Amino acid sequence: MKAIVLFGSPGSGKGTQAKRLTGCLGIPHISTGDMLRDRIRSGNETETMVATMQSGALVSDQVVNEMVEQRLSEPDAAHGFILDGYPRTLDQAGTLSTWLGGRGIHEVVIHLAVDYNVIIARLTGRRQCPRCGTLYNVTSHPPKVDGVCDLDGTGLVVRDDDSEAVIRGRLEAYDLQTRPVLDYFREAGHRVVEVDASHETPDGVFGKICQTIDGQSAELA
Ligand code: AMP
Repeated sequence: MKAIVLFGSPGSGKGTQAKRLTGCLGIPHISTGDMLRDRIRSGNETETMVATMQSGALVSDQVVNEMVEQRLSEPDAAHGFILDGYPRTLDQAGTLSTWLGGRGIHEVVIHLAVDYNVIIARLTGRRQCPRCGTLYNVTSHPPKVDGVCDLDGTGLVVRDDDSEAVIRGRLEAYDLQTRPVLDYFREAGHRVVEVDASHETPDGVFGKICQTIDGQSAELA
């Protein structure tokens, strides 16, 4: 069972790294942000949730916990999964720990640590394909044709929550609500691996993550 929690502030590169890992490990990438955006696109969510996400605040623990528990119970997650953007609060961390502990699963938490100034520069240049979710950056990872997804030709979009003011709000929410989750994992004796992702290219960060996972292979196998 390979249970990987990719942890880091908004813009730390979790989504990009999770997509690469899912390709090389053959286990699903579970992004709560993508799942919530899908639910909104399919018209299944309230205006309150849309407003919450647009403001950069967090959606309620109950909604997110139920969504993740349901997703982890699907057959494709039976041999492992990569969690991206979850858990983000102590309540969510407790729910996940109980779920994993009850099944004898030991997760590895990989913390992508990035300087906030680097993050603001990155997020304001971020573009995403609304169809397949692929992420680009206008400076560090541009698409082959400006504004168009390399994979399916769909026009790229700037996410509503990627403006500088909203980004600062999201970083504040991260500091207040999510950073304590790392301490929770550490204090509870879970494995937390630090990866410095400020100065590396996405390839460099991916190399470091793979080394970490190889190093943990006894437990992850
Ligand atoms: P992300 O794509 O992970 O940056 O998430 C985008 C937005 O979705 C966040 O700013 C929150 O509003 C919401 N969201 C995603 N994951 C969670 C979570 N685990 N708990 C609460 N809200 C979440």
